[in-house]
Amino acid sequence: MSARALPASLYADTARPAVPTPELRGETRVGTVLIGGGFTALSAALHLAEAGHAVAVLEAAEPGWGASGRNGGQVNPGLKALPSEVARHFGPERGARLAAAAWNAPDLVFDLIARHGIDCAAARGGTLRAATAASQLPALRRLAEECAARGGDVAWLDAAQIAARTGTSRYRAALLDRRGGQVNPLALARGLARAAIAHGAAIHGGSRALSVRRAGAGWRVGTQRGAVLADRVVFATNGYADRLWDRLRRTVVPVSSAIIATAPLPAEARARILAGREVLYELGAITTYYRIDDAGRLLIGGRSSLGDRAGPHAFPGLRRQALALWPFLRGVAWTHGWNGHVAVTPDHYPHWHEPMPGIIACLGYNGRGVAMATLLGREVARRALGAGTEDILLPPGPIRPIPCHAAWPLGVTAGILHGRLADALARRWPPGPGA
Ligand SMILES: Cc1cc2nc3c(=O)[nH]c(=O)nc-3n(C[C@H](O)[C@H](O)[C@H](O)COP(=O)(O)OP(=O)(O)OC[C@H]3O[C@@H](n4cnc5c(N)ncnc54)[C@H](O)[C@@H]3O)c2cc1C
Repeated sequence: MSARALPASLYADTARPAVPTPELRGETRVGTVLIGGGFTALSAALHLAEAGHAVAVLEAAEPGWGASGRNGGQVNPGLKALPSEVARHFGPERGARLAAAAWNAPDLVFDLIARHGIDCAAARGGTLRAATAASQLPALRRLAEECAARGGDVAWLDAAQIAARTGTSRYRAALLDRRGGQVNPLALARGLARAAIAHGAAIHGGSRALSVRRAGAGWRVGTQRGAVLADRVVFATNGYADRLWDRLRRTVVPVSSAIIATAPLPAEARARILAGREVLYELGAITTYYRIDDAGRLLIGGRSSLGDRAGPHAFPGLRRQALALWPFLRGVAWTHGWNGHVAVTPDHYPHWHEPMPGIIACLGYNGRGVAMATLLGREVARRALGAGTEDILLPPGPIRPIPCHAAWPLGVTAGILHGRLADALARRWPPGPGA
């Protein structure tokens, strides 16, 4: 597999083909140039192009090549922190605004899909946050109360109800948030690119940004065979950032997550696992997530070891986990496996930066980027169109590289081991009913 080829994911085999995004050749001038071709850049480009602003996207590989085209496809509402914590962190007015936008961010995704006719196997069966241990229940209850108090369409499912929906008795309880849903993320990325181009954006694949330099009052972003002159440069490279802006790269830890997928399941199995096309993620230190797609395939994901791997046999731990959840899946065919980088920030909030006029960066969605990168991409577009920083959902923050960033592979491996142990202990203590 060449460095630029898409990972051998289920999505690469099933998404509608991409529109051409030719390499940049020669010099061009725009108002805003975006570096990266994931949801952050594509949402920003689409919103800018719709507003009639001249915009170009430079993507090293092809739109959706990074995390955006290889993720779990869960369009999840919310942030890691509770809405009340967000309000405490960012202040009552701004925090409430951010929390409302984050918990309703799936609306933006599904509106864009509908408005631009994007064919991406979208379904809105809701998001299930499932508790694997009694110790997780108080926080989940609080989230349920806070969402309900803010008008969220949520429902509490007890152990029997979540077992009936998932076909496994692993969970103590779950919160169903009907705002969530699912997509084929590569198809969504390609659809956003197609829509942005239709509205006048220039999207260049195979065009790695190699340099960013001042040029008069603006900037010049150089690629191997061309350059873009722009008033504004947006870095949307997130967990796949190279060393173009090394300090920025070191503000997030790219944690590896893997997904494996089955062939379409037999009807009896489909009737037992998330028959309403809900998506589920488990609470706990090590997140397992899964969903059933439009063809009835199971996609299950979780933390993986570092380094790119692919193939249905590349992640035996995930397959064991699936068979532990659903022993009746023994014998189903596993067809795909792949992994990618989730960009994690120390405070678990996304970050945006504007260290000098005309330079913007937005990144760090902590595994919630399908909705949040689309939302913050729109905010980047609003900023580029002249919105004041106080009007943007998140306040801009300083660029703070994570100390000892180079040691992250060790830290992450230790974190996974520690997390597995913590999760295992939490499931055993306090003993649950029947233990
Ligand atoms: C396995 C996995 C599962 C996940 N599951 C979910 C999920 O179910 N739900 C959810 O909400 N989120 C999930 N996420 C997270 C989500 O995918 C990301 O938060 C989101 O896609 C980030 O989008 P982005 O545009 O910021 O970055 P990316 O999509 O990673 O795009 C960055 C792009 O920048 C390009 N690039 C880098 N350097 C340069 C350069 N110098 N010049 C040009 N281009 C450059 C890269 O090629 C890349 O395509 C998951 C992530 C992974 C990896």
